[in-house]
Amino acid sequence: VDDNSSRNVVFRSKLPDLPNIPNHIPLHTYCFENLPLFSEKPCLVVGSNGTTYTFSQTYLLSRKIAVGLSTLGISKGDVIMLLLQNCAEFALTFMAASMIGAVTTAANPFYTAGEIFKQFNSSNSKMIITQSQYVDKLRDHGVHNPKMGQDFPVITIDDPPEECLHFSMLFRTNEHKIPSVRIDPDDAVALPFSSGTTGLPKGVILTHKSLITSVAQQVDGENPNLYLKHEDVVLCVLPLFHIYSLNSVLLCSLRAGASVVLMPKFEIRSLLELIQRYRVTVAAVVPPLVLALAKNPMVGSYDLSSIRVVLSGAAPLGKELEDGLRSRVPQAIFGQGYGMTEAGPVLSMSAAFAKQPFPTKSGSCGSVVRNAELKVIDPNTHLSLGYNQPGEICIRGPQIMKGYLNDAKSTAATIDEQGWLHTGDIGYVDHDEEVFIVDRVKELIKFKGFQVPPAELEDLLVSHPCIEDAAVVPQKDNAAGEVPVAFVVLLSGMELTQEAVKDYIAKQVVFYKRLHKVYFVTSIPKSPSGKILRKDLRAKLPST
Ligand code: AMP
Repeated sequence: VDDNSSRNVVFRSKLPDLPNIPNHIPLHTYCFENLPLFSEKPCLVVGSNGTTYTFSQTYLLSRKIAVGLSTLGISKGDVIMLLLQNCAEFALTFMAASMIGAVTTAANPFYTAGEIFKQFNSSNSKMIITQSQYVDKLRDHGVHNPKMGQDFPVITIDDPPEECLHFSMLFRTNEHKIPSVRIDPDDAVALPFSSGTTGLPKGVILTHKSLITSVAQQVDGENPNLYLKHEDVVLCVLPLFHIYSLNSVLLCSLRAGASVVLMPKFEIRSLLELIQRYRVTVAAVVPPLVLALAKNPMVGSYDLSSIRVVLSGAAPLGKELEDGLRSRVPQAIFGQGYGMTEAGPVLSMSAAFAKQPFPTKSGSCGSVVRNAELKVIDPNTHLSLGYNQPGEICIRGPQIMKGYLNDAKSTAATIDEQGWLHTGDIGYVDHDEEVFIVDRVKELIKFKGFQVPPAELEDLLVSHPCIEDAAVVPQKDNAAGEVPVAFVVLLSGMELTQEAVKDYIAKQVVFYKRLHKVYFVTSIPKSPSGKILRKDLRAKLPST
């Protein structure tokens, strides 16, 4: 800790800083830098059918796709939307886009058309790469939607419907030369969407520099945070459209030379089969998956002895669950990572994974990543706090986002003038430099690790002709962590049932944003400046 004065307490990693992070080069160059060391090793393994791409095949195919994308008119700064379950094409296109200076925005393929097109329009995407099963959804909304101003190509990775192109046309080209393009460290490469501490989902600009720094913080150097070795086989069941999986699973594995076993979606039996079949050594998971692994009786019938590391992140993990999992995979090192999309995303990670591991306490999210600074501030006075004092976690370093796309106001509200990113999470650091997250002061609701932005649901609710005002808050839930519930004020003389409100929302959003309960009230408590007093509403909810 650097304790220059009681007003400036800064926490640092337990591990020594890296002397040099090569974050002046483009992301793909960095990820494939060590390729000659493991070029013929499996890189991407498609779990469902065993199709395997070696590192050199992955690199060469990405290059071809880069050429294909530029032939279709994609150039530096253009945004491509991926609407895919986990698959090799996701990884290949992401790397290809990086090679031509293009940017990838990935959306949840289970989104409704409305949700997809909000992200498509707000990111100003030029094309969608998807699976044929999702095209109907796009078509209903109008693949050739005149509102879009222009038609945009839709490419499917499987048999394309009439108006779509097939993915293979991207690498059928005989041209191998990638157009030469200057890529600066501060150029965007990924544009995940997150609601951050307040408001609607926004495009989070992650640059080549941010992602290289974040990957380096985890896997580079002598005593890395996430000690991935090139013998490792890493399970990729978490969706690649979320930055946790894209960064800590895919990009970290590419850099370290570990194989990635891709699984399109979570299903316990196939997950266990894949772990057994491919001798998975590293499992990146989220608390609901820990729950399944800790409790499902099927787990006992599979050989999970290959697992050496289990990393949980994206949402808080209870001690009971952690202990339950430890008893199922006793040989594995278990630890948490703490991330936030805007932070690149990893803020801290268990030092239990380090090459020379440190013991970590149950419930801890590890120590802050190397080459970064973390502080805990009093939410009211903004003064920084010392050990064991809970406050808002802030992070600073080259890995954090450049800002929100076209939203200087939200950027300024999140990253202060000294470069500190304010997370909206309440936590503390103990005397062993371990970070503990205890609460969230931001609006965000997390259902099984998925973001549910209250402002988005509130906007939809007040668009109902019978609803005057509404507020959405989290309610604790054993299986999901949290679920969204709504407080609704009806316009005078209007009548609406709870079910009608729930249905109205359910039609417009992906399954995890659905309302679990609707409370009809006469007014929504607000501060004099008009901010919803969410704490007061949360206090009204039953305790379980
Ligand atoms: P996202 O941007 O979707 O990754 O969500 C980030 C938020 O998830 C953080 O700001 C936290 O509120 C929560 N979160 C992520 N990891 C953890 C963790 N290990 N423990 C508790 N909360 C977490």
